[in-house]
Amino acid sequence: MSPLLPFNATMVCDLFTPLPPEQEPDDTPGFWVVLQGAALLVRAGVEQALLTDETLPEDIIPEAEPLRIGLWQGQSLRAMRIARDVPLPAGYEALPFQVADIRLGNTLATIAGRAAQVLHWERRSRFCSHCGGVLTRIPDGWGKRCPSCGDEHYPHIHPCIIVLVKRGAELLLIRNAAWNTGRFSLVAGFLDFGESLEECVQREVREEAGIEVTNIRYVGSQCWPFPSQQMVGFLADYAGGEVKPDGVEVVEAYWFQEDALPMLPGSKRSISRWIIETYGKSVS
Ligand SMILES: [Zn+2]
Repeated sequence: MSPLLPFNATMVCDLFTPLPPEQEPDDTPGFWVVLQGAALLVRAGVEQALLTDETLPEDIIPEAEPLRIGLWQGQSLRAMRIARDVPLPAGYEALPFQVADIRLGNTLATIAGRAAQVLHWERRSRFCSHCGGVLTRIPDGWGKRCPSCGDEHYPHIHPCIIVLVKRGAELLLIRNAAWNTGRFSLVAGFLDFGESLEECVQREVREEAGIEVTNIRYVGSQCWPFPSQQMVGFLADYAGGEVKPDGVEVVEAYWFQEDALPMLPGSKRSISRWIIETYGKSVS
């Protein structure tokens, strides 16, 4: 059973029905996901909800043709992006959906993430990566076909492992060079050619922290639409070696006592935080 985490489909399954892109323009009334960067446009100061046809400001200009991504409460749900630098109409604000902003609940963050992932694919799949031809849609899905060379292209979703390594009551946490000083998280990284997920866990821990692990077991996964990762979560036990950060990607790596953890990942919506909170404590 997949954990109930933001950005996974179960979070919105009572409200949202995914649909393939429409073949004909859809002008039925409905709801809008309007994105500006990694933020969702909502009306300011009221209980947050998706914008509807009636509430959509006229001066909101999409960067590309809006796209229906499914049904929200039984009505069409269309997604669009607006440029990062356009001023918002009075009475509206753009709330970030990656971080756990208390003004935006997990449900809206999840549908915003889904829209962002779809629009990212649409923007990056206009031309054939083999011959440069203009791609056309394969009916009833998000795939594209190249009329020039016949290649088919499907949404790119990138698998990444993320792992909590334990040594008794100690947790291995690392600080990535790109993160704020003082904030620690789990070892994570992209799957490489020729690897199983478990082999990826072993390699990433070895590269980022210099140690060996064993007893690798799967605990859950999360869609991470920034822009299009699949985070596959694991636990592993320490097997040998001295912790030593690689000094490039990872600048600090330590064992922390489970009851004395440092500042953790900024996004409480992430599987990283969920793994630490769910599996960080020893069973007594
Ligand atoms: Zn082609």
